Amino acid sequence: MIELPKDVRMIISMIEHSGFEAYVVGGCVRDTLMGRTPDDWDITTSARPEEIKKIFVKTVDTGIKHGTVTVIVRGQGYEVTTYRIDGEYTDGRHPSDVRYTRSLRDDLMRRDFTINAIAYNDSKGLRDEYGGLGDLQRRLIRAVGDPVDRFSEDALRMMRAIRFSAQLGFNIDGDTYKAIIAMSRGINQVSIERVQTELTKTLLSEHPEIVTEYQQTGLFLEILPELNSLLSSRDAQKVRPLLKNVPATKPMRYAALLSPLNSDTAKQILKKLRLDNATIDTAVNIIKYSKEEERISENEYSVREAMYRLGPRLLGQLFTYAEADINTKESVTGLPMRSRRIHLNTIKRYCDEIISRGDCVSLKDLDISGDDLMSMGLSGPEIGETLEWLLHIVLENPKLNEKQTLLAMLDTK
Ligand code: ATP
Ligand code: MG
Repeated sequence: MIELPKDVRMIISMIEHSGFEAYVVGGCVRDTLMGRTPDDWDITTSARPEEIKKIFVKTVDTGIKHGTVTVIVRGQGYEVTTYRIDGEYTDGRHPSDVRYTRSLRDDLMRRDFTINAIAYNDSKGLRDEYGGLGDLQRRLIRAVGDPVDRFSEDALRMMRAIRFSAQLGFNIDGDTYKAIIAMSRGINQVSIERVQTELTKTLLSEHPEIVTEYQQTGLFLEILPELNSLLSSRDAQKVRPLLKNVPATKPMRYAALLSPLNSDTAKQILKKLRLDNATIDTAVNIIKYSKEEERISENEYSVREAMYRLGPRLLGQLFTYAEADINTKESVTGLPMRSRRIHLNTIKRYCDEIISRGDCVSLKDLDISGDDLMSMGLSGPEIGETLEWLLHIVLENPKLNEKQTLLAMLDTK
């Protein structure tokens, strides 16, 4: 039925030999049944954490508060979690105490969606108490039990429903969807970090255009009003195909999402989402300079100048983004953008040639340094200004990047 990795089989059978139950559960079962390779194998068990620690030589208390012990086998960690009744109510109102149970059925009941509530082991086969197999077949995201109850226990599940539908290409069951609309305000209790994780996973998925569902359901109305109004405007129709066409990286997808906004507003939203600085910087720069490639003249000097001003890395990303933008506009309008495409390809070719030749495109590549200028008696802001002046000469004519030549040039300044 399900081919378990050897170590996972071994962990399960050791727990069973000690008189307890153990199953793989959740994402790994769902993914395997769909023919996908799971990232990790989570194990659920009737044994308590102390009991698990007695069975295995090497364990780490990674989430003991939630009943999770990590079992280490041949350098690899496997999360083993005791059957629990309650979810992780991290909305600040519920105490996060854990209630253990010896019943698998009860543990499966606390899980979010039926497709995530299937367990499996080799001795008992598939344990599907809530119709997860049928929903996998029907390609449906459906809450376990009453969706209204489940979303009031943990409001993040509403975002998870949309995120899984984007990742798996599934629809959300009608009652579950209605419950999201009815309960959407509950998301205001959830920390922005958890919201961001789900939004990011949605954007990096195979169906990033599903992001508009966060507006349709009302989930973003109060937590992210600026993004909500963007997604409800006509601009959303341009954003959806662009999202699909840019590569699945955080800066690219966030830049595409926020592309109709000015870069300052985009930055505010990304900061509010507590994204890492590298993602924020790159996404904001992509938005800010995304038309830049159109402005670079078709000569090597202009391309070197752009490489210096923007940096080769950002310029490369701007090219990738521009290409996706051209493809999107062409497929939406059905009209070829021949001249913009030719222009982009010409600039890219120049850029490749400049890189392979190793032309100087930064102050650090210059064959003269601030120290050299200081030993010639220059000081203060003069040094920076002179280096900049020399760099511009070298950007125009890379052959001049030679210390003696540059020093000689200083005499003519
Ligand atoms: P992925 O790891 O690809 O995001 P997953 O299904 O493994 O997907 P996890 O967040 O790793 O998701 O959680 C593992 C399992 O724990 C889920 O499959 C689900 O059964 C349960 N689970 C996780 N978060 C919640 C939640 N907020 N409410 C209820 N059950 C949850
Ligand atoms: Mg997982």
